[in-house]
Amino acid sequence: MTLVFASHNQNKVNEIKSLLPHTFEILSLTDIGFSDEIEETGRTLDENSKIKAQAVFDKTGYFCFADDTGLEIEALNFEPGVFSARYAGNQKNDSDNIEKVLSKLYGMANRNACFRTVITLLIEQEEYTFEGRVDGKIITEKRGEFGFGYDPIFIPENEYRTFAEMPMEEKNLYSHRARAFQKMIEFLLKNQFKLS
Ligand code: IMP
Repeated sequence: MTLVFASHNQNKVNEIKSLLPHTFEILSLTDIGFSDEIEETGRTLDENSKIKAQAVFDKTGYFCFADDTGLEIEALNFEPGVFSARYAGNQKNDSDNIEKVLSKLYGMANRNACFRTVITLLIEQEEYTFEGRVDGKIITEKRGEFGFGYDPIFIPENEYRTFAEMPMEEKNLYSHRARAFQKMIEFLLKNQFKLS
C-alpha cells in the first residue's frame, strides 16, 4: 500500500522507510510534487500534525500521515513546545533557539524536559494518533556536533551524552520520533489485512 508522509525532509522519510517492509510504499511531498505551504496554525502538536495530514489528504486524496515535534521544558511552562522551530523568531535558526532556551533557564535548578512527537495517520476515512516521547535534561551549554535543533543541549535519561554527541543511527534507535513511528508501524502491520 502507498502512504504519503506529509514532509519534505528526506532524512525523516528514509528513517521510516528503513523501518517498514517493502509492501509499504512511502512517498514524500517532494515525490508527489506537493509544494503548497501548509500553515501550522495549531496550538498543540496534535493539532498541527492533524492540520498537515488533512491538508495533504484534501488536496491529493492519498492516505497519509504527518508528524509534529516539540521540546517541552518543565520550568518554562512546557515551552517552546509547538513553537520549537521558531522559538527565537521566524528565521527558524537552531543556534538562536538554543540561546533563548539557555538564557531563560539561566540559574534555574529544574532542567527537566522532554521531546514529544505526535503523528496523525489518515487512512480509510479514519484518523489515528501516535505519540512518542523521550525524557531528559537541558544542560547549560552546547555539546556535540551531530543532529539538529536542540540536540546539543538535551541529554536523554540514562545517558551522559547529548543527542548531538551520538551518531544519528544511535539517536534514531530510541528517539521520540522513532518511538512514535514504531507505534504507527505496529498498528499498520497488525491491521494490514484491512489495508490491502
Ligand atoms: P518538526 O515538527 O519535526 O519540524 O520539529 C519542529 C522543531 O522541533 C524543529 O525545528 C527543531 O527545532 C525541534 N526538533 C524536532 N525534532 C528534534 C530532534 O530530534 N532534536 C532536536 N530538535 C528537534
